[in-house]
Amino acid sequence: MCGIVGYVGDEKATDILLDGLEKLEYRGYDSAGIAVRHPEGAIEVIKEKGRLSNLEKLVAEAAPQGTEGIGHTRWATHGESNQLNAHPHHSKGDRVVGVHNGIIENFAELKAELTDKGYTFYSETDTEVCIDLIDYYYRESGDALDALKHAKAAIHGSYALAILFDDRPGEIWVMRKSSPMILGVADGRAYLASDVPALLKHTRDVYYMDDDQMATLSRDGIQFYDGEGHPIELELTHIDWDIEAAEKGGFDHFMLKEIFEQPVVIANTLRHFVDTNGWIRFKGSHMTPDFYKSFDRVHIVACGSAYHVGCVSKYVMEELARIPVDVDIASEFRYRNPILSEKDLVIIISQSGETADSLAALREAKKQGAPTLAIVNVVGSSIAREADRVIYTVAGPEIAVATTKAYSCQLLVMDLIALDLAVTLGRIDEARVQELLGELKSIPRKMDAILKHHEDYKAIAQHYLNDEHMYYVGRGLDYAACLEASLKLKEISYVHSEAYAAGELKHGTISLIDEGTPVIGIATQPALSEKIRSNLLEVKTRGAAVFTLVMEGLDGFDAIGEITTIPAIDPLWATSLSVVPMQLMAYYVSVGRGLDVDKPRNLAKSVTVE
Ligand code: GLU
Repeated sequence: MCGIVGYVGDEKATDILLDGLEKLEYRGYDSAGIAVRHPEGAIEVIKEKGRLSNLEKLVAEAAPQGTEGIGHTRWATHGESNQLNAHPHHSKGDRVVGVHNGIIENFAELKAELTDKGYTFYSETDTEVCIDLIDYYYRESGDALDALKHAKAAIHGSYALAILFDDRPGEIWVMRKSSPMILGVADGRAYLASDVPALLKHTRDVYYMDDDQMATLSRDGIQFYDGEGHPIELELTHIDWDIEAAEKGGFDHFMLKEIFEQPVVIANTLRHFVDTNGWIRFKGSHMTPDFYKSFDRVHIVACGSAYHVGCVSKYVMEELARIPVDVDIASEFRYRNPILSEKDLVIIISQSGETADSLAALREAKKQGAPTLAIVNVVGSSIAREADRVIYTVAGPEIAVATTKAYSCQLLVMDLIALDLAVTLGRIDEARVQELLGELKSIPRKMDAILKHHEDYKAIAQHYLNDEHMYYVGRGLDYAACLEASLKLKEISYVHSEAYAAGELKHGTISLIDEGTPVIGIATQPALSEKIRSNLLEVKTRGAAVFTLVMEGLDGFDAIGEITTIPAIDPLWATSLSVVPMQLMAYYVSVGRGLDVDKPRNLAKSVTVE
């Protein structure tokens, strides 16, 4: 779920491990720990609840001198977040010490079996059970590879595991399933991490391990093994990301930096997928005319903000390509026995490409024979590798837990797919395609114009610092935009908010509107302008303090309450612009309330558990 790092080499391990964990802090975590092997052989475990700075203090006091070790940031799934449950975990006498991302689903059964064999447990975690299981097999065979292989066969669930054996100095053993594990080498040193930013400082050429594979890291390099334990070779992947791209670059928070990066990443994405002749090209993704004609229904399946991208896309794709589109929350889709066939395209959207519910939904779709397409940001991630087709968003690494630029890039890619599909199915004429592409190309410039006035949103946000409830209302695409606006506010400001289809308010929720209740309207759709105006008037009449984000050219909203405008754009693409002020407002409310914007409580960047 959170972060894993490991190092074996000739430098002080603590510096490298703590630095690596810092690079993974953005994922959100509740405790952290490291294990370092002393030069004379003993393994020392240091761990602490809370922020990495707590751990750093303990490490500074203990000052372990070794040059090999492993580290972890935990997001608790089994057992509360405390020092005892923090990783690394160890078997009796520190014979096996390990860190783990993921969940061991059958840990209770395994725990019972190990208890029968005389094992006792000090923590509530599934991880400790897994470490003891490896210990058990290691005692039996004395062979590390054999022990991992046997443990792997017995464990159900997801794991990225990094293991030290007390009698195997100079070696770190790893294995993974449904949880990322990335390795790198550089003369006489080997590194491991669950995510690229922790490795970039040391190497740009990395190995992505696949499910079921195992490996051993030493000063001589890395040896990979397949699920059976046979030695294998893996290919290196070169990472183009700049290390600066993973740092704040002068902004107060990663989130603000990433909001400001949107014009650039949108322009990059457009350049990436639209050639100079105005053709949409999803290079290497096999989005052929035959493929587009092979399905007659689309299911978009995702979680959180990516689900909201799906909600926007439903409107856009149905409008342009005239093909029915369903949007599903991945955790619901995977268990509701969806009706799918080879005529249903299932599109999975996930920033990290590791979202457990989305991965499971993908597998369900494949099981039912539906063609699958992944829209992901992380190259080589599980969803990217398992889907039939993948289109990468080129948003670069996103550090703030609350997504901004990845959302915008996902939206753009979905817009381009809708256009490409409409063209292939002959549902749109060439002039309209070029008009719409021209409008897409105007997004970076118009986003810049909004961002130039970001201080305005800071001022607006001041009105909402003490509110505990807010309502976002819109119609059509603006309703889909409200869903994301509301989630953004909830995530980082902890203000309760709800997004409502404006026409639905009168069917119940309007009873919550009282004197001064803050209601934010989004109005960018000319065809629905009068309707949303009436709905906003309805809440104003009942005392609401209405503030409306209006697209230039739509009138009459200033008579209802405060307004702010966004540049005019084709209404189909309006969400790409309206989301920016909403991100800024959520950001400034969070800052104004003195909260941890980039690492909001209870949340993690990549949700790799159910
Ligand atoms: N399931 C393990 C635990 O609760 C690992 C959680 C994680 O991935 O951080 O300790």
